[in-house]
Amino acid sequence: MVGTFSIGRLFRIRVGFHVSWIALFLFVVWAIASSLSELQTPLAVVLALACAVLLFASVVAHEFAHALVARRFGVQTRGITLFIFGGIATLENEPPTPRAEAAIALAGPLSSGLIALVSYGATLLLDRFGTGPVAAGVSLTLAYVAVANAVLAIFNLVPAFPMDGGRVLRALFWMRTRDQRAATIAAALVGVTLALCTAVASLVMLGSTHAWPYAWYATLAGFVAWSGWTHLRAARTTAG
Ligand SMILES: [Zn+2]
Repeated sequence: MVGTFSIGRLFRIRVGFHVSWIALFLFVVWAIASSLSELQTPLAVVLALACAVLLFASVVAHEFAHALVARRFGVQTRGITLFIFGGIATLENEPPTPRAEAAIALAGPLSSGLIALVSYGATLLLDRFGTGPVAAGVSLTLAYVAVANAVLAIFNLVPAFPMDGGRVLRALFWMRTRDQRAATIAAALVGVTLALCTAVASLVMLGSTHAWPYAWYATLAGFVAWSGWTHLRAARTTAG
């Protein structure tokens, strides 16, 4: 992607961010800081910054889970990039088998689910044994991390190819038909349809409620529909 900057390498995989991600990062810090308005401003900003860094570290961990499982199946990762819609691990090749595809796809949501559970457990311990404003602040930050990771795990399991759930669906189609190209077309058709329906429903809700999150949902669904469409067109033009 043009406008991508490298942060460094981990497990021999380049990690970077696209300029568009800065907008998402600042928005997340602002949203969390405003939800902590009962705290003093400097403390709210520090907690919001820590929380945003932890949230994006969780997104990177989710992408690493995909990349490291892919490596076990002999598929290398070109890089992990944070961008305005979250994170993406760019694999060098398609998975070799439907089983590999399902394992690589499920690794991300599983890691997010695990992070959610661990963070939630830590908040319970802090609430039980911690005292003072710092313990309360850390507990609140970890509660945000737990909720965000649970949402990340569930959202990614929606069967809208090329999202993780859609990749699991493609693996199932692929297992049944033994034809990866036909499976891609079927999963991408389901994905584009789901994403378009979500985009239209979000726009209708935006029109009737004027609640801004619906504008974001519509944009996100539009992006998923466009990605699905790109895969669909590529699969159709590949000689099968
Ligand atoms: Zn994922």
